[in-house]
Amino acid sequence: MNKHTTYQQLRGHLAYLKLAATAEHLPAALQHAETDKPSYTQFLHDLLAVEVKATEQRRLAGRLRLAGFPSTKTLEEFDFDAQPSLDRRLVDELATLRFIEEKANTLLIGPPGVGKTMLAIALGLKAVHAGYRVYYTTAADLVARTTKAAIEGRWQTTMRFWNGPQLLVIDELGYLPMPGEAASHLFQVISRRYEHGSIILTTNRGIASWGEIFEDTTVAAAILDRLLHHATVLQIDGDSYRMRDHRARLATLRAGLNHPSQGGEFP
Ligand code: ADP
Ligand code: MG
Repeated sequence: MNKHTTYQQLRGHLAYLKLAATAEHLPAALQHAETDKPSYTQFLHDLLAVEVKATEQRRLAGRLRLAGFPSTKTLEEFDFDAQPSLDRRLVDELATLRFIEEKANTLLIGPPGVGKTMLAIALGLKAVHAGYRVYYTTAADLVARTTKAAIEGRWQTTMRFWNGPQLLVIDELGYLPMPGEAASHLFQVISRRYEHGSIILTTNRGIASWGEIFEDTTVAAAILDRLLHHATVLQIDGDSYRMRDHRARLATLRAGLNHPSQGGEFP
């Protein structure tokens, strides 16, 4: 078989095996090999490394898409100085993602604007980058979807869906009240994931007042029981970061008004 035919067949193999990155890189790799004369092992290693990298990137993009994060802010962007009440060591420990291996949960509790959603997503992002399947939802959305599924006879499928990700982020529990049936749906998602997959849950209500979110205090207690059994609780008591921005802008505005000579332009 001549060299040209072999080359054509090699390309055929790569296409059949769907090794697109390898196929693309092949001409350059062969050219380099002519000059560098690597060992057979080294040549194959370097060529397949290109395919591995491309596959990793494709899977990462897929996991990111699946996660459905509403933002992509990272832990590195989180300003810990602005939130002195937050225990940074706990956040660092969570960032090791050991809690996902342990199928443990994380509760982020605090008033609006203190960075609960940002932290939950930042940890979720870390997990996605580490190869975990993650899914972001709000408590209201979770309940709306399970309710719809129950009506349409897709309950089992939906429960399998909520059980799928290794980390489920449930954001914003407590902004809307949860009447009996909604609470029971949330309970079922949480109890099925119990010791099976991690949850990061954010809420504006302290645990003591969860009775006010749920109509049914027995369900509230049952949910808390499952969630807290293996959980890290992060309490953030500081000021709203959003308001901080507003305050800063107001201060600039006032300073401008007090010193019109320095230009009273509004930012
Ligand atoms: P919460 O979910 O607690 O209501 P968010 O996480 O939505 O608060 O934060 C509100 C806004 O402020 C977001 O844009 C978030 O990225 C930003 N933010 C909050 N806390 C911090 C922080 N400590 N460092 C940097 N940005 C922050
Ligand atoms: Mg939030």
